[in-house]
Amino acid sequence: MHLPIFTHRQPADFAGVVSALTEGSGAKVLAGGTDLLVNMKHRIEMPETLVSLKKVADIRGISLEGDATVIGAATTLKEIRQNSELERKFPALVQAAMSVGSYRHQAMGTLGGNLCQNTRCRFFNQSWQWRQVRSLCYKVGGEDCHVIGRKHTCFSTYSGDVAPALLVLDASLRITGPDGPREAPLSTLYSGEGRTPVTLGRGEFVTAVVIPGAAARGKSRYEKFSLRGSIDFPIVGAAVWRGDGSVRAAYTGVDRAPVRASELEAELAGQELTDASLKRGANLAHKAAKIAPTSVHPVSFKRELMGVLFVKAMRDIS
Ligand SMILES: Cc1cc2nc3c(=O)[nH]c(=O)nc-3n(C[C@H](O)[C@H](O)[C@H](O)COP(=O)(O)OP(=O)(O)OC[C@H]3O[C@@H](n4cnc5c(N)ncnc54)[C@H](O)[C@@H]3O)c2cc1C
Repeated sequence: MHLPIFTHRQPADFAGVVSALTEGSGAKVLAGGTDLLVNMKHRIEMPETLVSLKKVADIRGISLEGDATVIGAATTLKEIRQNSELERKFPALVQAAMSVGSYRHQAMGTLGGNLCQNTRCRFFNQSWQWRQVRSLCYKVGGEDCHVIGRKHTCFSTYSGDVAPALLVLDASLRITGPDGPREAPLSTLYSGEGRTPVTLGRGEFVTAVVIPGAAARGKSRYEKFSLRGSIDFPIVGAAVWRGDGSVRAAYTGVDRAPVRASELEAELAGQELTDASLKRGANLAHKAAKIAPTSVHPVSFKRELMGVLFVKAMRDIS
């Protein structure tokens, strides 16, 4: 499969990235390329310009600012999985990074790319030829969502492994764009709409992830269920965090964005964690998501998995 024709830009600093992203229309950031280039080969995405982060200064590495941990957006998943301080403080993050694709995906794939990766669906994560047999779906330029049979909506599913781990760690993002730098909670990165799943404005890109020091005072865990042991997206992924008398839980693979399970969290706040209370929480997990049949796995199976993975992850950190 060939890549479509595109222009390649390789700026050296943040200002250069913003400028390259805003010149003309249809420019996209290129980090490790393990998601974007595959989609381009399948003609799912066809940006005119790719703006590489490879030579950009100050966008890669792991550092401390006070008690907060700052991870550059172009830090690879391999660098995250190999960092012993991250493993000690934020096990869920390292477990999630280790569960992505294969070792090669982790060596090339970056934190920013993992968070900003495209949503997935059985109707468009297919070759161009496969998709020719029916009209294009809304995500890739048609009218209808083939999953739910409605016009002008897209239910494709967010399936990144790392976002739920960072959601339970209360992480925020550093974003730079034409109006300068800003910081925003990670949850605001996601629109909840499958066609344009990420809310970044024109010319904006993620420069770093910030994990507050308080996150290290709790225990965390990421559990992934996938069909194969490696090189597979999660059917469902669940991250949990426990500390200060509260429980946080977040999921991937179940909705158009990664989701926090607020009803489950409210049920367990200040509660003693027993088999009975965990079961009550597990029964509420599915309320966090509007699961659509975007994969071959039944919705009821995914609902069930949300509770099962929650209990498994919580038992592992109890
Ligand atoms: C066979 C296969 C298996 C996979 N398995 C998994 C899996 O199990 N779990 C999983 O989570 N992923 C999986 N992936 C997807 C992908 O490999 C990872 O998500 C990877 O972390 C993406 O990072 P990247 O740097 O390669 O992103 P890219 O491909 O470079 O970029 C992905 C998207 O993010 C945008 N982007 C990248 N960096 C930034 C930034 N700093 N600011 C703004 N936008 C940005 C790009 O424009 C693009 O839209 C798999 C991919 C393949 C091909």
